[in-house]
Amino acid sequence: MTTAAIVVASGRSLRFGGDVPKLVVPWRGRPLVAWTLRALEACPEVDDVVLVASGEVASAAAGSAAAKLVGVVPGGDTRQASVAAGLAALPARADLVLVHDGARPFVSPGLVARVVRAAREAGAAVPVLPVVDTLKRVAADESPARDTILETVPREALARAQTPQGFRRGVLEAAAAFAAETGLGATDDMAMVEALRAAGRLPAGTRLVTVPGEASNVKVTTPADLPAVVIETRVGLGHDVHPLERGRRFVLGGVDLQPGAADEERFGPAGHSDGDALAHALCDALLSAAGKDDIGATFPDTDPAHRGRASLDFVREVAGGLRADGWSVLNVSGVVRLERPRVLPFVPALREALGRALGCGPDRIGLSAKRGEGLGPVGEGRAVEADVVALIGRET
Ligand code: MG
Repeated sequence: MTTAAIVVASGRSLRFGGDVPKLVVPWRGRPLVAWTLRALEACPEVDDVVLVASGEVASAAAGSAAAKLVGVVPGGDTRQASVAAGLAALPARADLVLVHDGARPFVSPGLVARVVRAAREAGAAVPVLPVVDTLKRVAADESPARDTILETVPREALARAQTPQGFRRGVLEAAAAFAAETGLGATDDMAMVEALRAAGRLPAGTRLVTVPGEASNVKVTTPADLPAVVIETRVGLGHDVHPLERGRRFVLGGVDLQPGAADEERFGPAGHSDGDALAHALCDALLSAAGKDDIGATFPDTDPAHRGRASLDFVREVAGGLRADGWSVLNVSGVVRLERPRVLPFVPALREALGRALGCGPDRIGLSAKRGEGLGPVGEGRAVEADVVALIGRET
């Protein structure tokens, strides 16, 4: 006794406004069809999944690493034909079949369990929701009378059908064969079984039942149906200053500001590491935003392991730690104060280097180069100073 799900994802729904099928539109980093497959992966009652899809949707599914996916078959021109194609590709061991819309990615394991239980017991089950809006019967043709109300339809005896719809395999196979034979044109799987019942050909002991659906199990038809992604943001501030000494390489943001200079011409920041004030201020901004210990506590200068390390390595390590906690860098904005060498010509290279270390594009790095106007240690050419703010974000 195993359960297989047929996921119908062959509709040519371009209602998202673009020219790609809506099921390959990415949402939170994955195509919609991959979310649907993932939802079924999480259901212990589902053993195998057959996807009815072709083209881009089939390729997106192939890349989704869904372990229960045992087959991908092209669909037909109608839903009925697509379900028949899925049925033909079912593993022999399946005795219960779920048919699910590819565009319902938010189905819960609880809902699937209810449908499976009811379908095993009754033979055919659909999840339904009550109708909450008042229903009006209107003129059904294209004429101007379309805006004419004919009557109010009592809603107490009506329900909205969702998927997955669950069936004993024999029941669905008989219903699909009957629908094909009679050219039924059903847009809903249970409707095929209803037609079989109306013809008096329902297998003995079969009942058509409902189970409670879920409001969150929406059928995605427009972008507005997708839940908004909420991003938590945090800001952090970092500062650093290093005195300048003869004979030191001048590294700033991982970039050598005196490329090709002879050793005796070199005049750069003193410090335990390479004295990279911009990298240090950036690390502190990121650590501060994430509520972590600052650079001095994270990479203590008493630890010989950090001696002589390139400070851009610290930036990479800090950014990696943030990523592991789900954070990504939204943007970084820094000010470097230095008399000489002039920083301005290096700004594009600095933005590239920092962007690479952070795993974001240089368009997320803003940097201004200032001089000291003769004031203080920076103005006197004795120090380099950097201030950085960083904004990080993650989905909640
Ligand atoms: Mg420092």
